[in-house]
Amino acid sequence: MKCVNCDSKKFDNKRIRFPVELKGETVEVLAEACVCSSCGEPQMDADQMNRLRRAAADEYRKAHGLLTSLEIVNYRERLKMSQVEFARYLNVGEASIKRWETYYIQDEGQDDHIRLKCDEAYAEMNALQVYRKSNPPDVFSGFRPLNLEIIKNIIAFLVKHKKAKSKLFLNKILFYVDFLHFKNYGKSITGLRFVPIDYGPCPDGFQALFAYLEKDGVLAKKGKHDFVSNMEPNLNLFDDHEKETLTRIVRILNEKGEQYLYELSHKERAFNDSEFAKPISYELAKYLLI
Ligand SMILES: [Zn+2]
Repeated sequence: MKCVNCDSKKFDNKRIRFPVELKGETVEVLAEACVCSSCGEPQMDADQMNRLRRAAADEYRKAHGLLTSLEIVNYRERLKMSQVEFARYLNVGEASIKRWETYYIQDEGQDDHIRLKCDEAYAEMNALQVYRKSNPPDVFSGFRPLNLEIIKNIIAFLVKHKKAKSKLFLNKILFYVDFLHFKNYGKSITGLRFVPIDYGPCPDGFQALFAYLEKDGVLAKKGKHDFVSNMEPNLNLFDDHEKETLTRIVRILNEKGEQYLYELSHKERAFNDSEFAKPISYELAKYLLI
């Protein structure tokens, strides 16, 4: 390599901040270049150029909430796929994978597609959003839209501070939280739909819900059935009436235990008078036994 400026052949490797134009924006990246020892002109070999392009693309991706090249590589490696296999899995050309894993920026639609096929929590979340959109608030949701933030915080609160630990009990406790609140205020808190199944009244699709809570880091397994939570619940999300309902349920849990609520839930008309596996009308909350 020869300096374009002064013909010198001596270079030092230095890290330099370069502005790079990408999709009409300027991003700045630190990249290694060969700097002419006599005149200071930076130059790049092919490898350095490729690294600069990838780093610039990643800066842009980060700024726009898109997956970085490394995140895409990590997804593929977690699925233990070659680039060819990954291309087939995503229904795209092999060249796209090679480019996305380096300098070519995927558009938002492609980014969404990659996440849906590679990120379980994202896919679960998407399923819940579809569910939410196709089930507008009505008497089966307690006249509220499904609210994942609220659900996450109630679950974290119950698991973290009140020792309700398994799916089996959490499902019943959620039922009582929502139905009791409806009985007193004509609205649920979470917007969940409950269905009577063998285990008692449970949130519709609770397996997907808990899978999402686990993937999202709200819950972690401890032993076979129990959960722990590392999320600090944010009680500011609840209004005073909702806090009152939560406090009342927690008091019952502390006094009588979760087994009590579990057994009581099987005696509720909401459970017994509703069709198996079909959403329970919140109107039946008026007969609650607590
Ligand atoms: Zn030079």
